[in-house]
Amino acid sequence: NTPHHIRPTYAEVSLSALQHNIKQFSSKLKQETYLMAVVKADGYGHGAVQVARVALDAGATHLGVAFLDEAALLRQHGIQAPILVLGYTPTSAIETAARLRVSVTVFSLGQMLEIAALKNCGRLSIHLKLDTGMSRLGATTPDEARAIAHLVQCCEFTVLEGVFTHFADADGLDPSFTELQFSRFMSMLKFLRDSGIQYEMAHCCNSAAIWRFPQYQLDMVRLGIGMYGFISLARNDIALPKLEKAMRVRSAISSLKQISAYEPISYNRSYVTKSNATIAVLPIGYADGLDRKLSDLGYVDIAGQAAPIVGKICMDQTMIDVSHLIDLHIGDQAVLFGTDENGVTASDWARWLNTIEYEIVCSISKRVPRIYT
Ligand code: PLP
Repeated sequence: NTPHHIRPTYAEVSLSALQHNIKQFSSKLKQETYLMAVVKADGYGHGAVQVARVALDAGATHLGVAFLDEAALLRQHGIQAPILVLGYTPTSAIETAARLRVSVTVFSLGQMLEIAALKNCGRLSIHLKLDTGMSRLGATTPDEARAIAHLVQCCEFTVLEGVFTHFADADGLDPSFTELQFSRFMSMLKFLRDSGIQYEMAHCCNSAAIWRFPQYQLDMVRLGIGMYGFISLARNDIALPKLEKAMRVRSAISSLKQISAYEPISYNRSYVTKSNATIAVLPIGYADGLDRKLSDLGYVDIAGQAAPIVGKICMDQTMIDVSHLIDLHIGDQAVLFGTDENGVTASDWARWLNTIEYEIVCSISKRVPRIYT
């Protein structure tokens, strides 16, 4: 029995699409450049363990996560590849990171002083984060960066494995801010080297930067959203890779009935039928990550045609107007968002909801089983 025997709502994740997308981005890289597959937030909703395995098979050398518990999950599943926690690791979790051989990001002197004060930590690999324009995590001045790096070098159980920064606008219209961030990064790296600091690798590129600024690839790149099949650049004069969307969310009709004209549908009667209508119910709701703001706004694909969501999306169910479709039956499949550019995609959801595809795929909740194809 597969999970969809219990409820016909599930997300299909295409492993070959992930492989295909990795190849597209790898084609921009030199042979010796390391490739980090970013699998934080449960692999952007696709399933971190499965994505990590496929990515490592397809040539990724490193894995990136946001938090240590995500790294621990990968280790529990026997994944031995180098993992970097890109976000914040509290000092209380540093010994666990060392034990799991997971590298951590250090971004302030205060944080490094606390780490250096730990005893019996084992070997801990550190990547120093520099803030070159994101105004998020990272040392902002060369002096601060040098002070942290010196402490990493002096502390007997820490090694400076990497130095990195993150671009704020690699997908934006104007390349000049990314160029500025890169030049700030390069000067900080030179300042560190001139101060006698040694590190194994420097890295800065996310998906958009790998594609648009491959000359910035340095020793490693960090591929996230592109691996899952999305890349959007604000400029349309840059040829995009041919990516395959990896996730398709499906459900199936659980109820079909005729509703007379002028009848309200769902909570608070936000939608009223204009004429006699055929209304289908799908067993998927906002608890599954179908954003309630898509009520009376979004469409789903049924029998290859678009059918509008009518009335408020409920926690576990959603009503669809299928009056224009003939010969529908209970159990007929619906695609909430798919991989076919002619049908509804996560990019449509992102447009309808005024957000980005990252948020759409991450929001498909744990209640929706993932099925790998
Ligand atoms: N590097 C860092 C530090 C990140 O936070 C992220 C994701 O937000 C990535 C790389 C991957 O970015 P993208 O998904 O745009 O490729």
